[in-house]
Amino acid sequence: MTSQRTRERLVQRLRDEGLKNLDVLDVMLRTPRHLFVDEALAHRAYEDTALPIGNNQTISQPYMVGRMTELLLSAGPLDKVLEVGTGCGYQTAVLAQLVERVFTIERIQSLQERAKEQLAELNIRNVVYRWGDGWEGWNAMAPYDGILVTAGAKEIPQALLGQLAIGGRLVIPVGEIDKQQLLLIVRELDGFVYQRLEGVRFVPLLPGTLP
Ligand code: SAH
Repeated sequence: MTSQRTRERLVQRLRDEGLKNLDVLDVMLRTPRHLFVDEALAHRAYEDTALPIGNNQTISQPYMVGRMTELLLSAGPLDKVLEVGTGCGYQTAVLAQLVERVFTIERIQSLQERAKEQLAELNIRNVVYRWGDGWEGWNAMAPYDGILVTAGAKEIPQALLGQLAIGGRLVIPVGEIDKQQLLLIVRELDGFVYQRLEGVRFVPLLPGTLP
């Protein structure tokens, strides 16, 4: 159930659902999602579905990981990317194999510790971790060529807009819990261009931190 063939079937399904970026699909083919969930759920790791990872959080649906990564990369390769919501680290692992450097923030420390260990085991070394509230972004490391938020925000966090480089891209689910919409925001020389995409369902972006 965790074999290469199962993973190939998942990636074929993602292609059927419309994902096109071959680099993203190739990375998803090579990334062992079953190692990011509890052993008891490993047999479901290559279904195209979100799964619980403890602390009331989930590992995102593979289609959504691929879709958001494609949106982030669709204007060309990126150097520095900020991820808000490390969770189990699966999206972090996918991103880290496609961009130069990933800075990732998580508000639940124990989740982030596990993610850190898992990525080290996979020999993914271009990730810098921070335990904190991603609503504020990570100003000390800004500007970013891309920012990916993997939890649903009630409104667009203004700090994140300010931390985008010119030409930088922000992909974020925004809205009330059952009315979230995926947004792509691009910073241009003279302002921001907003693109509203499909409806989505993410766990909420929450304030503050937890051990
Ligand atoms: N990226 C994960 C998905 C994680 S779910 C994956 O690959 O599957 C969303 C994560 O965002 C949760 O772990 C949650 O704790 C975290 N989160 C929610 N609000 C946050 C905030 N304000 N700052 C940082 N992380 C936050």
